[in-house]
Amino acid sequence: MNKQLDYKLLPTLASKSEPEWKRFYVKNKKKLESMDLKIHALHDKISERVDCLACANCCRSLGPRITDKDVERMAKALRMKTVDVISKYLRIDEDKDMVFQTMPCPFLGADNYCSIYENRPKACREYPHTDRKRFYQIYNLSIKNAYTCPIVYEVLENLTKTP
Ligand code: SF4
Ligand code: SF4
Repeated sequence: MNKQLDYKLLPTLASKSEPEWKRFYVKNKKKLESMDLKIHALHDKISERVDCLACANCCRSLGPRITDKDVERMAKALRMKTVDVISKYLRIDEDKDMVFQTMPCPFLGADNYCSIYENRPKACREYPHTDRKRFYQIYNLSIKNAYTCPIVYEVLENLTKTP
């Protein structure tokens, strides 16, 4: 597990592992509630090795949910009015959430750097959530994220396949 996993392989790899991840959840539902420390240790170990700048798959394919506070921060960073940020970059989706009008994200550069990194939305800061408290609450969401993010894929593989 030393080489960085190519995100393009994830749809195939994750769909192969998904049945086992789901079985693990059913078998260990209760146990998972006290497994945060183990999961966070896996997160730290794996994310230390993964180079997000060589990936950027989340910025290319997942639309973060954007809050009013995020808009204010982005507006300051871009030296724009919040209304202009909204009309230029944002839309309301079918779940009534504010998201970017287009993906890949308009702030993602060709070099995979985020041009508003210091002021990026909270959802971007928190992704991929594998260091979150009460991880068991987002276990099923993480199965979905494993199709996009190499870190999540490897956390789930390690968690479910090592004793
Ligand atoms: S968080 Fe995951 S999907 Fe996003 S850039 Fe890093 S490894 Fe890739
Ligand atoms: S704001 Fe930055 S971190 Fe968030 S999706 Fe766009 S490029 Fe990625």
